[in-house]
Amino acid sequence: MAEGCLFCSIIAGDVSADKVAETDEALAFRDIEPQAPTHVLVVPKVHSPTLTELAESHPDAAVAVLTLARAVAVDEKITDGYRLVCNNGAGAQQTVFHAHVHVLGGRPFTWPPG
Ligand code: 5GP
Ligand code: ZN
Repeated sequence: MAEGCLFCSIIAGDVSADKVAETDEALAFRDIEPQAPTHVLVVPKVHSPTLTELAESHPDAAVAVLTLARAVAVDEKITDGYRLVCNNGAGAQQTVFHAHVHVLGGRPFTWPPG
């Protein structure tokens, strides 16, 4: 657990969240400011600032995040087309520096993203 990290606090139960799924290595909960009918954040239980750094330091946890993202999409019935978003670094609008994947679905998407 990293001092002052919001998602570590959610994992620890010190900050409440609308949890939708959990494994030994990852937790899924609804985004507080949803950008689609389904907007779930999937986070590793181990702290790492970005998903790419997590892949280097804890590859099993990175795979666990993607596996849980898939399970969330199945539960939410959005497997016909959903978007996994990973804002990697401040320049890409990452605001919480605990690795996470956004699972977005339930509406049409456009490309390129903003
Ligand atoms: P990022 O911008 O780092 O890719 O994504 C961080 C996400 O965390 C944002 O979509 C934001 O709405 C969400 N978020 C920020 N604070 C909270 C919170 O306290 N609870 C939950 N559930 N989501 C949050
Ligand atoms: Zn953290």
